[in-house]
Amino acid sequence: MSSFDLRAINLMTGVMCVVLGIVILGVRHNFPGTLKGLGLWGLGPLLGMLATLFFGLDGLIPHSVAVIGGNAFAFCSCGLLYFGSQCFFEQKVTWRFWGGLGIISLSGLAFFLLAQPDYRIRVAIFACTVGLLFAGHTRLLLRHGRGWAARFTMVVMGVQTSIVIVRLVAIYWIDRADTNHFTPTLIHTLYLVSFSFMVLLFLVGAQLMASERIRAEFEHLATYDSLTGALNRRVLQLAGEQELLRWQRYGQSFAVLLLDIDHFKQINDRYGHLVGDQVLKRFVATLRRPLRKSDLVGRYGGEEFVVLLPVTDLSTALALGERVRAAVEATPAGPGAPACTTSVGVSCVQAGDTSFDALIARADQALYKAKAEGRNRALMLQQETQ
Ligand code: GH3
Ligand code: MG
Ligand code: MG
Repeated sequence: MSSFDLRAINLMTGVMCVVLGIVILGVRHNFPGTLKGLGLWGLGPLLGMLATLFFGLDGLIPHSVAVIGGNAFAFCSCGLLYFGSQCFFEQKVTWRFWGGLGIISLSGLAFFLLAQPDYRIRVAIFACTVGLLFAGHTRLLLRHGRGWAARFTMVVMGVQTSIVIVRLVAIYWIDRADTNHFTPTLIHTLYLVSFSFMVLLFLVGAQLMASERIRAEFEHLATYDSLTGALNRRVLQLAGEQELLRWQRYGQSFAVLLLDIDHFKQINDRYGHLVGDQVLKRFVATLRRPLRKSDLVGRYGGEEFVVLLPVTDLSTALALGERVRAAVEATPAGPGAPACTTSVGVSCVQAGDTSFDALIARADQALYKAKAEGRNRALMLQQETQ
């Protein structure tokens, strides 16, 4: 292991940190501003490069400056990666705590460098501080990370934490008070190399997490109505066509409810559009209550909603339509959202239906009838059959 040149490893780490930092700061602009943390993830490796610069200049600059500066930037670099993750997961950034701990740790380093020089204690102080930081970072990823990219990044941090712990324990056997950081013992080499790999793998994982988050956000935008959280018309239409295919293949009956809020224009006119929006949100929350988990709620237009009821016959659909109507009527005016009622058109798949639109058309006629008969009622057409 003595064939490893730790100065070369240090240099290589520095160069890699610059490249990674610049890449992350560059690709940051490809992501929407709602995604936080990328800037800190990019600055982290740039500070890491400054750490390698201080370590590398040892001999050309005073040893104490190299050690304190190198360790300070190394700690700040790991801290920025952690803060970047805290921002990414929209958690409070705990910079006061870690800043305080960093200052205490650096004061300890300075003491055991200048007043009472002891390499072992210096390694122990630094390893304890970054070890705690890495453990905190691993915990954050474990708690808030979703998907395999977050798991990968969490494993990178977990392995790095373990390497720091091994380095800490190894102090007892391999180091002497007068060793220095370029003495190439196996464990110290592993320790230094692990930092460069950690930065590389962590940033790969972080970029993947960012891409996964964006993909999930776009998928959500393409699936749900942003105001009410109901499915959008396209997705509900596709689900309806799927149900029709299932009915054609297996004879499994299904039904739809078409709902339209009564006199919604008056609510808008009297209370304003923002209050109208609150009514729409509450309306969807209310109409979900009597439904089963497998029933799909979609927004069909302004204040028109469709409920797709899989594996449901006509009488059950009519009963459910009535329960939904009653639930809406029974919901009292709340803060910022006046009470409302709804009319419901009910239809069930029947012989001769060749498209999902056929059910929607019958539910629409039933809804029209419910409006004409005075609103606040759930109806089906006379000719509706099983
Ligand atoms: P009816 O009982 O006959 O259904 O009467 P109505 O007043 O509800 O009539 P209509 O269905 O034509 O009114 C729909 C209104 O919904 C008109 C439109 O301004 C409003 N609207 C559509 N989308 C939104 C929205 O996203 N937010 C708000 N606040 N209002 C909306
Ligand atoms: Mg209406
Ligand atoms: Mg309408």
